[in-house]
Amino acid sequence: MEPLFLKPVFKERIWGGTALEKEFGYLIPSDKTGECWAISAHPNGPSIIENGSYTGVSLDNLWKEHPELFGNPTEEVFPLLTKILDANMDLSVQVHPDDTYANEHENGELGKTECWYVIDCKEDADIIVGHTAKTKEELVTLTQEGKWNQLLRKVKIKPGDFFYVPSGTIHAICEGTLILETQQSSDTTYRVYDYDRRDDKGNLRELHLDKAIGVTNVPHQDAGMSPVLETKENTTITTYIKSEFFSVYKWDVKGKTCFAFDNQYLLLSVIEGEGSLINKEEKYPLTKGTHFILPVGFGEFELDGNLQMIVSHM
Ligand code: ZN
Repeated sequence: MEPLFLKPVFKERIWGGTALEKEFGYLIPSDKTGECWAISAHPNGPSIIENGSYTGVSLDNLWKEHPELFGNPTEEVFPLLTKILDANMDLSVQVHPDDTYANEHENGELGKTECWYVIDCKEDADIIVGHTAKTKEELVTLTQEGKWNQLLRKVKIKPGDFFYVPSGTIHAICEGTLILETQQSSDTTYRVYDYDRRDDKGNLRELHLDKAIGVTNVPHQDAGMSPVLETKENTTITTYIKSEFFSVYKWDVKGKTCFAFDNQYLLLSVIEGEGSLINKEEKYPLTKGTHFILPVGFGEFELDGNLQMIVSHM
C-alpha cells in the first residue's frame, strides 16, 4: 500500500496574492493566485497523483476505478475538498446551500459545509461569520438597504483559530488571511455582497441575492467550537470538529509517533515543518505544503520529525 501524494491545482482570483508562493514555495500562475486546491476530485480542478502505481491518475478517476482504496464507499463522488486560500483582499460575502437545495437547484452538486484553520493572518484581521437579523424579513430589509455594517457579524482572528461554517451561514474571509479550508466537494457559492467592487473592465460581479436569502439560516446560530486536545506518544492531537460531513484535526508531531487507521482513508496536509512518513520498509519525506491521502488498508505507519498537519476524514 502506498500513500497518494497529490499535485495541487491553483486558481487565480481577483482577491488573490502571492502568499502561496512565499509560504509554501508553490509555482503559482500569477500574483493574483487565490486558491490552492490541494486535495480535490472536483471536476473544476481535480488533483493528480504524483507517485507510485497511480502516477498521473486524477483523484476523481481513482475514486471511480479503485473504490477499494477508499473502503468501497457508497458516495458517487469523492466527498471532500482541501484548499489553501490566500485572501490578499476581502473575499465577497457569501453563503452556500445544503445538500438538498444544491441537489435540486445546482444539477446534483453537493451542498457546502466548510471549516477554516487560520494558518496566518495580519494583526487585527477579521472574518465574517453569521449575521444579526432575527427574521427573514429583517435580513431582506437590511440587505436591500445595504446596511452591511449592521447586518454582518465580524469576528477578530489570530493564527491557529478554527471556524466551522455550516451551509446556510453567511461568511467572508477578509484581507490578510491565509487559511486551510476543509469542505464538502462543491463549488456552489451565492454571493450576497461584493463591496461594490468593479473588475478591470468596470463590471460588478454578479450577486445571487434571492438564492442567498433562500438558503441563509435565520437567526444565525454560532457553531461554538471547543477543540479537544490529547497526546499520543510525541504528537499532540487537536480535534476541532466531528460532524456528519467531516472530522478535522491538527496533529503536532514532535518526534516519532505510531498510528494505525484500518477502516478509513485520511487526508493530510503539512502546514509547517518537515519530517517523514514511514511504512514498513518505505520512508517518504514530508515538507511544508505537501498534501496526501492514506488509503484504507495503509495499516500502521510512523510519523517522525517536526510537523504540523491538518488531517481530515469522513
Ligand atoms: Zn465559503
